[in-house]
Amino acid sequence: MANEWSLHPYIEPIWANINLEFMIKFSVIYFFVVWVALIIWVAKDISYRSHSRVFQIFCVLLMILFTPLWVLLYILIRPRKSMYDKCSDEIEWNLGILNEIVQDHIETTTADYICPSCDEEIQPDFIICPSCKASLKDTCHECHKLIREGWKVCPYCETKQKKKKKNKDKKKKND
Ligand SMILES: [Zn+2]
Ligand SMILES: [Zn+2]
Repeated sequence: MANEWSLHPYIEPIWANINLEFMIKFSVIYFFVVWVALIIWVAKDISYRSHSRVFQIFCVLLMILFTPLWVLLYILIRPRKSMYDKCSDEIEWNLGILNEIVQDHIETTTADYICPSCDEEIQPDFIICPSCKASLKDTCHECHKLIREGWKVCPYCETKQKKKKKNKDKKKKND
């Protein structure tokens, strides 16, 4: 067949054997190798995408029954997202909520602390305003704990607080 081509002595016997029968055998072996590889691929792929053992076995069985053509259908019917994708989506969603809560907390905690006399920003544990020296905390006359100015009742001992005379600083507020 290929004897006239004067090929390398090792290649020559191989060429001599390439005939129709060889081609058919090669194609059949190739087909089976691809088939087995696809079965393994489907088995792995579906285990990432579905918890359901029944569905996993169903997909692999169809792959075995319907030859490699089934792989086209499988790609259409398999769950679009892998379980890893679903997990990371869920984590992202939860992080979004957490972020909102933290932002809310920051807003409410920082927004509240402004000096009632001069509107300067203050810290929640300040006793006196560093800008206008207005007193920011009172002492409960019953339990002597520090409470915020203007509170009508002590949150620690429930004692009603006497009304204090307003700060002189208030007059200067509109300057
Ligand atoms: Zn102030
Ligand atoms: Zn008290």
